[in-house]
Amino acid sequence: MSAAGPDLDFLVLGAGMAGMSAAARAAQAGARVAVVERAPEPGGSAVFAEFIWTAPSVTVMREVNPEGDPALARAAVEGFAPAIDWVRSLGVTVGEPVELLGYGVGHQTDMAALFRAYRAAVEGAGGVILTEAEPLRLLVEDGAVRGAEVRLAGGEARELRAPATLLATGGYAGDRELRARHIHPNAADLPLRANRYSAGAGLRLGEEAGAAFGLEDACFYGHLMARGLAMPDGSEIAVNTFFHSEHGVLVNLEGERFHDETVGDQLNAIALVEQPEARALLITDRRVHDEWMLRPYVKGLEPVDKFQLAYRRGARCATAADLDEFEALPPEWGYPGAKVREALVEFNRRCEAGDPLPTRVRDAQPLVDPPYYVVEVTTGITFTMGGVRTDADARALDAAGAPIPGLLAAGADAGGLYKRAYAGGLAPALVFGMRAAETAVAANGGG
Ligand SMILES: Cc1cc2nc3c(=O)[nH]c(=O)nc-3n(C[C@H](O)[C@H](O)[C@H](O)COP(=O)(O)OP(=O)(O)OC[C@H]3O[C@@H](n4cnc5c(N)ncnc54)[C@H](O)[C@@H]3O)c2cc1C
Repeated sequence: MSAAGPDLDFLVLGAGMAGMSAAARAAQAGARVAVVERAPEPGGSAVFAEFIWTAPSVTVMREVNPEGDPALARAAVEGFAPAIDWVRSLGVTVGEPVELLGYGVGHQTDMAALFRAYRAAVEGAGGVILTEAEPLRLLVEDGAVRGAEVRLAGGEARELRAPATLLATGGYAGDRELRARHIHPNAADLPLRANRYSAGAGLRLGEEAGAAFGLEDACFYGHLMARGLAMPDGSEIAVNTFFHSEHGVLVNLEGERFHDETVGDQLNAIALVEQPEARALLITDRRVHDEWMLRPYVKGLEPVDKFQLAYRRGARCATAADLDEFEALPPEWGYPGAKVREALVEFNRRCEAGDPLPTRVRDAQPLVDPPYYVVEVTTGITFTMGGVRTDADARALDAAGAPIPGLLAAGADAGGLYKRAYAGGLAPALVFGMRAAETAVAANGGG
Protein backbone atom coordinates (compact mmCIF):
# COMPACT_ATOMS: atom_id res chain seq x y z
CA MET A 1 0.00 0.00 0.00
CA SER A 2 1.17 3.51 -0.67
CA ALA A 3 0.28 6.06 2.00
CA ALA A 4 -0.32 8.58 -0.74
CA GLY A 5 -2.41 6.37 -2.98
CA PRO A 6 -6.16 6.41 -3.41
CA ASP A 7 -6.37 2.87 -2.11
CA LEU A 8 -6.80 3.32 1.65
CA ASP A 9 -9.77 1.74 3.37
CA PHE A 10 -9.46 3.72 6.58
CA LEU A 11 -7.80 7.00 7.48
CA VAL A 12 -7.24 7.62 11.19
CA LEU A 13 -6.42 11.10 12.49
CA GLY A 14 -4.61 10.81 15.84
CA ALA A 15 -2.54 7.89 17.15
CA GLY A 16 -3.66 7.82 20.79
CA MET A 17 -5.95 5.32 22.50
CA ALA A 18 -8.95 5.70 20.20
CA GLY A 19 -6.98 6.07 16.97
CA MET A 20 -4.54 3.21 17.48
CA SER A 21 -7.25 0.88 18.82
CA ALA A 22 -9.24 1.60 15.65
CA ALA A 23 -6.27 1.31 13.32
CA ALA A 24 -5.07 -1.99 14.81
CA ARG A 25 -8.55 -3.49 14.83
CA ALA A 26 -9.20 -2.51 11.21
CA ALA A 27 -5.76 -3.73 10.12
CA GLN A 28 -6.47 -7.10 11.74
CA ALA A 29 -9.67 -7.28 9.67
CA GLY A 30 -7.66 -6.74 6.50
CA ALA A 31 -8.23 -3.00 5.97
CA ARG A 32 -5.56 -0.82 4.41
CA VAL A 33 -4.95 1.80 7.09
CA ALA A 34 -3.04 5.07 7.44
CA VAL A 35 -2.70 6.90 10.75
CA VAL A 36 -1.77 10.59 10.91
CA GLU A 37 -0.17 11.70 14.18
CA ARG A 38 0.97 15.21 15.10
CA ALA A 39 3.48 14.15 17.77
CA PRO A 40 6.81 12.42 17.06
CA GLU A 41 5.41 9.16 18.52
CA PRO A 42 1.99 7.52 18.87
CA GLY A 43 0.50 7.29 22.37
CA GLY A 44 -1.13 10.61 23.21
CA SER A 45 -2.30 10.94 26.81
CA ALA A 46 -2.88 7.20 26.91
CA VAL A 47 0.78 6.49 27.56
CA PHE A 48 0.56 8.47 30.84
CA ALA A 49 -2.46 6.40 31.91
CA GLU A 50 -2.59 3.04 33.63
CA PHE A 51 -6.08 1.73 34.31
CA ILE A 52 -8.57 0.74 31.63
CA TRP A 53 -11.81 0.97 33.58
CA THR A 54 -15.44 1.97 33.53
CA ALA A 55 -18.69 1.47 35.43
CA PRO A 56 -19.37 -2.21 36.14
CA SER A 57 -22.95 -2.05 34.84
CA VAL A 58 -25.21 0.16 32.79
CA THR A 59 -27.12 0.97 35.98
CA VAL A 60 -24.02 2.31 37.73
CA MET A 61 -23.03 4.23 34.59
CA ARG A 62 -26.45 5.90 34.54
CA GLU A 63 -26.24 6.67 38.26
CA VAL A 64 -22.88 8.42 38.04
CA ASN A 65 -23.53 9.95 34.61
CA PRO A 66 -27.30 10.54 34.43
CA GLU A 67 -27.17 13.18 31.70
CA GLY A 68 -25.01 11.24 29.23
CA ASP A 69 -26.49 9.71 26.07
CA PRO A 70 -28.04 6.38 27.24
CA ALA A 71 -27.21 4.51 24.01
CA LEU A 72 -23.54 5.50 24.25
CA ALA A 73 -23.48 4.65 27.97
CA ARG A 74 -24.83 1.18 27.24
CA ALA A 75 -22.42 0.60 24.35
CA ALA A 76 -19.45 1.73 26.48
CA VAL A 77 -20.29 -0.63 29.33
CA GLU A 78 -21.30 -3.61 27.18
CA GLY A 79 -18.25 -3.23 24.95
CA PHE A 80 -15.83 -3.18 27.87
CA ALA A 81 -15.32 -6.92 28.58
CA PRO A 82 -14.89 -7.88 24.89
CA ALA A 83 -12.47 -4.98 24.48
CA ILE A 84 -10.35 -6.19 27.41
CA ASP A 85 -10.37 -9.70 25.92
CA TRP A 86 -9.12 -8.24 22.65
CA VAL A 87 -6.32 -6.33 24.42
CA ARG A 88 -5.28 -9.59 26.13
CA SER A 89 -5.39 -11.38 22.77
CA LEU A 90 -2.72 -8.95 21.54
CA GLY A 91 -0.34 -10.40 24.17
CA VAL A 92 -0.54 -7.37 26.48
CA THR A 93 -0.41 -7.83 30.27
CA VAL A 94 -3.74 -6.88 31.83
CA GLY A 95 -4.08 -6.97 35.64
CA GLU A 96 -6.77 -8.46 37.84
CA PRO A 97 -9.91 -6.32 38.36
CA VAL A 98 -9.50 -3.41 40.80
CA GLU A 99 -11.93 -0.78 42.09
CA LEU A 100 -11.53 2.81 40.87
CA LEU A 101 -13.02 6.04 42.26
CA GLY A 102 -15.31 4.02 44.50
CA TYR A 103 -17.72 3.01 41.71
CA GLY A 104 -15.68 1.75 38.77
CA VAL A 105 -13.89 -1.48 37.94
CA GLY A 106 -10.90 -1.89 35.67
CA HIS A 107 -7.50 -3.33 34.94
CA GLN A 108 -4.00 -1.98 35.28
CA THR A 109 -2.57 -2.36 31.80
CA ASP A 110 0.89 -2.13 30.33
CA MET A 111 0.19 0.82 28.03
CA ALA A 112 3.65 0.86 26.44
CA ALA A 113 3.21 -2.79 25.50
CA LEU A 114 -0.27 -2.08 24.15
CA PHE A 115 1.03 0.64 21.84
CA ARG A 116 3.83 -1.65 20.66
CA ALA A 117 1.21 -4.30 19.87
CA TYR A 118 -0.96 -1.74 18.06
CA ARG A 119 1.96 -0.57 15.96
CA ALA A 120 2.88 -4.16 15.09
CA ALA A 121 -0.71 -4.91 14.06
CA VAL A 122 -0.95 -1.84 11.82
CA GLU A 123 2.48 -2.07 10.23
CA GLY A 124 2.37 -5.87 10.04
CA ALA A 125 -0.70 -5.56 7.83
CA GLY A 126 1.02 -3.03 5.56
CA GLY A 127 -0.49 0.08 7.16
CA VAL A 128 1.45 3.26 7.86
CA ILE A 129 1.74 5.58 10.86
CA LEU A 130 2.74 9.05 9.69
CA THR A 131 4.16 10.99 12.64
CA GLU A 132 4.80 14.75 12.87
CA ALA A 133 1.98 15.08 10.37
CA GLU A 134 -1.45 16.67 10.69
CA PRO A 135 -4.70 17.06 8.79
CA LEU A 136 -5.26 20.38 7.01
CA ARG A 137 -8.83 19.77 5.85
CA LEU A 138 -11.26 16.95 5.19
CA LEU A 139 -12.03 16.01 1.59
CA VAL A 140 -15.80 16.39 1.33
CA GLU A 141 -17.54 15.33 -1.86
CA ASP A 142 -21.32 15.35 -2.29
CA GLY A 143 -21.76 15.54 1.47
CA ALA A 144 -19.52 12.52 2.12
CA VAL A 145 -16.06 12.60 3.70
CA ARG A 146 -13.49 10.94 1.44
CA GLY A 147 -10.27 11.37 3.41
CA ALA A 148 -8.16 14.40 4.24
CA GLU A 149 -5.47 16.66 2.96
CA VAL A 150 -2.55 16.16 5.31
CA ARG A 151 0.67 18.05 5.97
CA LEU A 152 3.43 15.45 6.16
CA ALA A 153 6.53 15.66 8.38
CA GLY A 154 8.60 17.38 5.70
CA GLY A 155 5.97 20.08 5.19
CA GLU A 156 4.57 18.66 1.98
CA ALA A 157 0.76 18.56 1.66
CA ARG A 158 -0.80 15.35 0.38
CA GLU A 159 -4.33 14.06 -0.16
CA LEU A 160 -5.05 10.76 1.60
CA ARG A 161 -8.27 9.40 0.15
CA ALA A 162 -10.35 6.80 2.03
CA PRO A 163 -14.03 5.87 2.26
CA ALA A 164 -13.89 6.20 6.07
CA THR A 165 -12.05 8.79 8.18
CA LEU A 166 -11.83 8.71 11.97
CA LEU A 167 -11.41 11.85 14.10
CA ALA A 168 -9.30 10.74 17.09
CA THR A 169 -7.16 13.75 17.96
CA GLY A 170 -7.96 13.66 21.68
CA GLY A 171 -10.31 16.63 22.15
CA TYR A 172 -9.55 20.31 22.66
CA ALA A 173 -7.98 20.52 26.13
CA GLY A 174 -4.92 22.17 24.57
CA ASP A 175 -6.84 25.07 23.00
CA ARG A 176 -7.55 28.20 25.11
CA GLU A 177 -10.25 29.57 22.85
CA LEU A 178 -12.28 26.34 22.64
CA ARG A 179 -11.96 25.81 26.39
CA ALA A 180 -13.28 29.30 27.06
CA ARG A 181 -16.14 28.83 24.58
CA HIS A 182 -17.30 25.36 25.57
CA ILE A 183 -16.37 25.18 29.27
CA HIS A 184 -16.11 28.58 31.00
CA PRO A 185 -14.17 31.82 30.42
CA ASN A 186 -11.95 30.87 33.39
CA ALA A 187 -11.01 27.64 31.61
CA ALA A 188 -8.87 29.51 29.05
CA ASP A 189 -6.00 29.90 31.51
CA LEU A 190 -6.10 26.58 33.31
CA PRO A 191 -3.15 24.20 33.26
CA LEU A 192 -3.25 21.14 31.07
CA ARG A 193 -2.65 17.73 32.63
CA ALA A 194 -2.42 15.77 29.41
CA ASN A 195 -0.52 15.49 26.13
CA ARG A 196 0.03 18.96 24.63
CA TYR A 197 -0.96 18.14 21.06
CA SER A 198 -4.73 17.75 21.45
CA ALA A 199 -5.93 21.22 20.52
CA GLY A 200 -9.29 20.73 18.86
CA ALA A 201 -8.31 19.63 15.35
CA GLY A 202 -10.91 16.85 15.30
CA LEU A 203 -13.71 19.11 16.48
CA ARG A 204 -12.86 21.86 14.00
CA LEU A 205 -12.63 19.41 11.07
CA GLY A 206 -15.85 17.71 12.12
CA GLU A 207 -17.77 20.96 12.42
CA GLU A 208 -16.50 22.09 9.01
CA ALA A 209 -17.96 18.87 7.56
CA GLY A 210 -21.32 19.56 9.24
CA ALA A 211 -20.99 17.58 12.47
CA ALA A 212 -22.92 18.75 15.52
CA PHE A 213 -21.27 19.62 18.83
CA GLY A 214 -22.52 18.05 22.03
CA LEU A 215 -23.29 17.63 24.77
CA GLU A 216 -23.51 21.32 25.63
CA ASP A 217 -21.99 22.00 29.08
CA ALA A 218 -20.48 18.49 29.14
CA CYS A 219 -17.32 20.07 30.61
CA PHE A 220 -14.20 17.98 31.01
CA TYR A 221 -12.37 15.40 33.05
CA GLY A 222 -9.66 16.87 35.27
CA HIS A 223 -8.32 17.07 38.79
CA LEU A 224 -7.28 19.60 41.38
CA MET A 225 -3.58 20.31 41.46
CA ALA A 226 -1.27 22.71 43.29
CA ARG A 227 -1.63 26.11 41.63
CA GLY A 228 1.36 27.55 39.83
CA LEU A 229 3.43 24.39 39.60
CA ALA A 230 4.97 23.62 36.25
CA MET A 231 4.54 20.00 35.24
CA PRO A 232 8.05 18.84 34.33
CA ASP A 233 6.77 15.97 32.22
CA GLY A 234 3.68 13.87 31.71
CA SER A 235 4.65 11.11 34.12
CA GLU A 236 4.50 13.65 37.00
CA ILE A 237 0.88 14.52 36.35
CA ALA A 238 -0.72 11.76 38.37
CA VAL A 239 1.62 12.43 41.32
CA ASN A 240 0.49 16.06 41.48
CA THR A 241 -3.21 15.16 41.67
CA PHE A 242 -5.25 15.74 44.81
CA PHE A 243 -7.63 12.78 44.82
CA HIS A 244 -8.02 13.31 48.60
CA SER A 245 -9.77 16.69 48.12
CA GLU A 246 -13.04 14.78 48.53
CA HIS A 247 -12.28 14.49 52.25
CA GLY A 248 -11.04 18.06 52.70
CA VAL A 249 -12.65 21.48 52.56
CA LEU A 250 -12.38 23.89 49.63
CA VAL A 251 -12.63 27.62 50.36
CA ASN A 252 -12.74 30.16 47.53
CA LEU A 253 -11.26 33.65 47.24
CA GLU A 254 -14.27 35.04 49.05
CA GLY A 255 -13.54 32.80 52.03
CA GLU A 256 -16.52 30.51 51.39
CA ARG A 257 -17.15 26.83 50.80
CA PHE A 258 -18.94 26.52 47.47
CA HIS A 259 -19.63 22.85 46.82
CA ASP A 260 -19.97 19.33 48.25
CA GLU A 261 -16.34 18.26 48.11
CA THR A 262 -17.17 14.61 48.79
CA VAL A 263 -18.67 13.97 45.32
CA GLY A 264 -15.16 13.36 43.98
CA ASP A 265 -11.99 15.23 43.11
CA GLN A 266 -12.84 15.11 39.38
CA LEU A 267 -16.13 16.92 40.09
CA ASN A 268 -14.42 19.36 42.48
CA ALA A 269 -12.20 20.25 39.53
CA ILE A 270 -15.27 21.18 37.47
CA ALA A 271 -16.87 23.14 40.32
CA LEU A 272 -13.69 25.16 40.87
CA VAL A 273 -13.55 26.42 37.28
CA GLU A 274 -16.70 28.40 37.98
CA GLN A 275 -15.27 30.08 41.10
CA PRO A 276 -13.45 33.45 41.11
CA GLU A 277 -10.10 33.04 39.31
CA ALA A 278 -10.63 29.26 39.44
CA ARG A 279 -8.56 28.98 42.60
CA ALA A 280 -9.23 27.89 46.16
CA LEU A 281 -7.58 26.68 49.34
CA LEU A 282 -7.75 22.95 49.95
CA ILE A 283 -7.71 22.45 53.71
CA THR A 284 -7.32 19.13 55.46
CA ASP A 285 -6.45 18.07 58.98
CA ARG A 286 -4.17 15.28 60.18
CA ARG A 287 -6.94 12.65 59.83
CA VAL A 288 -7.50 13.42 56.15
CA HIS A 289 -3.78 13.82 55.53
CA ASP A 290 -2.90 10.46 57.08
CA GLU A 291 -5.96 8.41 56.17
CA TRP A 292 -6.69 9.73 52.69
CA MET A 293 -3.81 11.68 51.19
CA LEU A 294 -1.28 9.00 52.14
CA ARG A 295 -3.57 6.24 50.90
CA PRO A 296 -2.94 5.17 47.27
CA TYR A 297 -5.97 6.01 45.15
CA VAL A 298 -5.90 2.49 43.73
CA LYS A 299 -4.99 -0.46 45.92
CA GLY A 300 -1.41 -1.56 45.38
CA LEU A 301 0.05 1.75 44.13
CA GLU A 302 2.81 3.57 46.07
CA PRO A 303 1.42 6.33 48.32
CA VAL A 304 2.91 9.80 47.81
CA ASP A 305 2.95 12.77 50.24
CA LYS A 306 1.51 15.26 47.78
CA PHE A 307 1.50 18.10 50.30
CA GLN A 308 5.26 17.75 50.86
CA LEU A 309 5.84 17.46 47.15
CA ALA A 310 3.88 20.63 46.40
CA TYR A 311 5.62 22.46 49.29
CA ARG A 312 9.11 21.46 48.14
CA ARG A 313 8.33 22.61 44.61
CA GLY A 314 7.30 26.08 45.80
CA ALA A 315 3.50 25.92 45.65
CA ARG A 316 1.46 28.00 48.09
CA CYS A 317 1.35 25.66 51.09
CA ALA A 318 1.12 26.18 54.84
CA THR A 319 0.37 24.33 58.05
CA ALA A 320 -1.65 25.70 60.95
CA ALA A 321 -1.68 24.50 64.56
CA ASP A 322 -5.27 25.62 65.06
CA LEU A 323 -8.11 27.38 63.26
CA ASP A 324 -7.18 30.80 64.67
CA GLU A 325 -3.96 30.73 62.65
CA PHE A 326 -6.04 31.01 59.46
CA GLU A 327 -6.48 34.70 60.31
CA ALA A 328 -2.80 35.09 59.47
CA LEU A 329 -2.91 33.66 55.94
CA PRO A 330 -0.25 35.41 53.84
CA PRO A 331 -1.97 38.57 52.50
CA GLU A 332 -0.37 38.14 49.06
CA TRP A 333 -2.39 34.96 48.60
CA GLY A 334 -5.49 37.16 48.43
CA TYR A 335 -7.81 35.19 50.75
CA PRO A 336 -9.69 36.90 53.61
CA GLY A 337 -8.12 35.01 56.56
CA ALA A 338 -10.82 35.87 59.09
CA LYS A 339 -13.56 34.67 56.74
CA VAL A 340 -11.66 31.46 55.97
CA ARG A 341 -11.38 30.79 59.69
CA GLU A 342 -15.09 31.51 60.11
CA ALA A 343 -15.95 29.14 57.25
CA LEU A 344 -13.99 26.34 58.94
CA VAL A 345 -15.51 26.99 62.36
CA GLU A 346 -18.96 26.98 60.76
CA PHE A 347 -18.15 23.80 58.80
CA ASN A 348 -17.09 22.01 61.98
CA ARG A 349 -20.10 23.27 63.91
CA ARG A 350 -22.52 22.13 61.22
CA CYS A 351 -20.80 18.73 60.76
CA GLU A 352 -21.11 18.13 64.50
CA ALA A 353 -24.81 18.98 64.21
CA GLY A 354 -25.08 16.60 61.23
CA ASP A 355 -25.99 19.42 58.83
CA PRO A 356 -23.05 20.70 56.76
CA LEU A 357 -23.88 23.35 54.16
CA PRO A 358 -23.05 22.91 51.28
CA THR A 359 -24.02 19.37 52.18
CA ARG A 360 -21.58 16.40 52.32
CA VAL A 361 -22.94 13.17 50.85
CA ARG A 362 -19.98 11.14 52.13
CA ASP A 363 -17.32 12.19 54.64
CA ALA A 364 -19.17 14.63 56.92
CA GLN A 365 -16.66 14.53 59.76
CA PRO A 366 -15.40 17.90 61.08
CA LEU A 367 -11.76 18.90 60.67
CA VAL A 368 -10.72 18.78 64.32
CA ASP A 369 -7.38 16.98 64.28
CA PRO A 370 -4.55 19.52 63.87
CA PRO A 371 -2.21 20.35 62.31
CA TYR A 372 -4.13 21.72 59.37
CA TYR A 373 -2.62 21.44 55.91
CA VAL A 374 -3.39 24.19 53.41
CA VAL A 375 -2.52 24.19 49.74
CA GLU A 376 -3.74 26.52 47.04
CA VAL A 377 -5.26 24.52 44.20
CA THR A 378 -6.55 25.11 40.73
CA THR A 379 -8.06 22.85 38.10
CA GLY A 380 -5.95 20.85 35.68
CA ILE A 381 -7.80 19.78 32.55
CA THR A 382 -7.10 16.28 31.28
CA PHE A 383 -9.56 15.86 28.42
CA THR A 384 -12.67 17.57 27.21
CA MET A 385 -16.05 15.85 27.11
CA GLY A 386 -18.06 17.83 24.60
CA GLY A 387 -17.13 16.98 21.03
CA VAL A 388 -18.42 15.70 17.72
CA ARG A 389 -21.77 14.02 18.39
CA THR A 390 -21.65 10.33 17.53
CA ASP A 391 -23.87 7.27 17.65
CA ALA A 392 -22.95 3.90 19.18
CA ASP A 393 -21.26 2.88 15.91
CA ALA A 394 -18.92 5.91 16.23
CA ARG A 395 -20.54 7.62 13.24
CA ALA A 396 -20.38 11.45 13.35
CA LEU A 397 -23.83 13.01 13.40
CA ASP A 398 -25.12 16.26 11.96
CA ALA A 399 -27.48 18.66 13.76
CA ALA A 400 -30.47 16.58 12.68
CA GLY A 401 -28.91 13.43 14.17
CA ALA A 402 -28.12 11.89 10.76
CA PRO A 403 -24.74 10.20 10.16
CA ILE A 404 -22.30 12.12 7.95
CA PRO A 405 -21.18 9.54 5.34
CA GLY A 406 -17.54 8.57 5.73
CA LEU A 407 -16.94 10.41 9.02
CA LEU A 408 -16.36 8.74 12.40
CA ALA A 409 -15.18 10.04 15.77
CA ALA A 410 -13.96 8.32 18.94
CA GLY A 411 -12.19 9.01 22.22
CA ALA A 412 -12.16 12.60 23.43
CA ASP A 413 -13.02 13.89 19.93
CA ALA A 414 -16.46 12.28 20.35
CA GLY A 415 -19.13 13.94 22.47
CA GLY A 416 -22.26 12.55 24.05
CA LEU A 417 -21.14 9.81 26.42
CA TYR A 418 -20.45 11.99 29.47
CA LYS A 419 -21.89 15.17 30.88
CA ARG A 420 -20.13 16.56 33.98
CA ALA A 421 -19.36 12.98 35.00
CA TYR A 422 -16.60 10.46 34.46
CA ALA A 423 -16.25 6.69 34.36
CA GLY A 424 -12.95 6.20 32.53
CA GLY A 425 -11.27 7.72 29.48
CA LEU A 426 -9.26 4.82 28.08
CA ALA A 427 -12.18 2.39 28.04
CA PRO A 428 -14.53 4.49 25.87
CA ALA A 429 -11.62 5.37 23.56
CA LEU A 430 -10.89 1.65 23.22
CA VAL A 431 -14.51 0.52 22.85
CA PHE A 432 -15.53 3.22 20.36
CA GLY A 433 -12.20 3.00 18.53
CA MET A 434 -13.00 -0.67 17.94
CA ARG A 435 -16.56 0.23 16.93
CA ALA A 436 -15.22 2.80 14.47
CA ALA A 437 -12.99 0.15 12.90
CA GLU A 438 -15.89 -2.26 12.62
CA THR A 439 -18.10 0.44 11.05
CA ALA A 440 -15.37 1.36 8.57
CA VAL A 441 -14.70 -2.26 7.63
CA ALA A 442 -18.40 -3.08 7.27
CA ALA A 443 -19.00 -0.02 5.08
CA ASN A 444 -16.15 -1.17 2.91
CA GLY A 445 -17.64 -4.58 2.27
CA GLY A 446 -15.81 -6.45 5.03
CA GLY A 447 -12.18 -5.29 4.48
C1 LIG B 1 -1.72 11.59 33.54
C2 LIG B 1 -2.94 10.93 32.96
C3 LIG B 1 -3.42 9.79 33.55
C4 LIG B 1 -4.56 9.18 33.04
N1 LIG B 1 -4.98 8.03 33.63
C5 LIG B 1 -6.04 7.40 33.13
C6 LIG B 1 -6.42 6.13 33.65
O1 LIG B 1 -5.72 5.54 34.50
N2 LIG B 1 -7.55 5.57 33.14
C7 LIG B 1 -8.28 6.15 32.16
O2 LIG B 1 -9.31 5.62 31.76
N3 LIG B 1 -7.90 7.32 31.59
C8 LIG B 1 -6.80 7.95 32.06
N4 LIG B 1 -6.39 9.10 31.47
C9 LIG B 1 -7.17 9.64 30.33
C10 LIG B 1 -6.82 8.90 29.02
O3 LIG B 1 -5.45 8.99 28.78
C11 LIG B 1 -7.64 9.49 27.87
O4 LIG B 1 -9.00 9.42 28.20
C12 LIG B 1 -7.41 8.73 26.56
O5 LIG B 1 -6.04 8.71 26.23
C13 LIG B 1 -8.23 9.38 25.45
O6 LIG B 1 -7.94 8.77 24.23
P1 LIG B 1 -7.90 9.64 22.89
O7 LIG B 1 -7.50 8.75 21.80
O8 LIG B 1 -9.14 10.41 22.76
O9 LIG B 1 -6.76 10.73 23.17
P2 LIG B 1 -5.19 10.49 23.26
O10 LIG B 1 -4.89 9.14 23.77
O11 LIG B 1 -4.63 11.64 24.00
O12 LIG B 1 -4.72 10.54 21.73
C14 LIG B 1 -4.92 11.66 20.90
C15 LIG B 1 -3.82 11.65 19.86
O13 LIG B 1 -4.12 12.59 18.82
C16 LIG B 1 -2.92 13.28 18.49
N5 LIG B 1 -3.27 14.56 17.86
C17 LIG B 1 -3.69 15.69 18.44
N6 LIG B 1 -3.90 16.64 17.50
C18 LIG B 1 -3.60 16.08 16.31
C19 LIG B 1 -3.63 16.57 14.98
N7 LIG B 1 -4.00 17.83 14.69
N8 LIG B 1 -3.27 15.74 13.99
C20 LIG B 1 -2.87 14.46 14.27
N9 LIG B 1 -2.82 13.96 15.52
C21 LIG B 1 -3.20 14.76 16.53
C22 LIG B 1 -2.23 13.43 19.83
O14 LIG B 1 -0.86 13.75 19.66
C23 LIG B 1 -2.47 12.06 20.43
O15 LIG B 1 -1.49 11.13 20.04
C24 LIG B 1 -5.25 9.73 31.93
C25 LIG B 1 -4.74 10.86 31.31
C26 LIG B 1 -3.59 11.47 31.82
C27 LIG B 1 -3.05 12.67 31.12
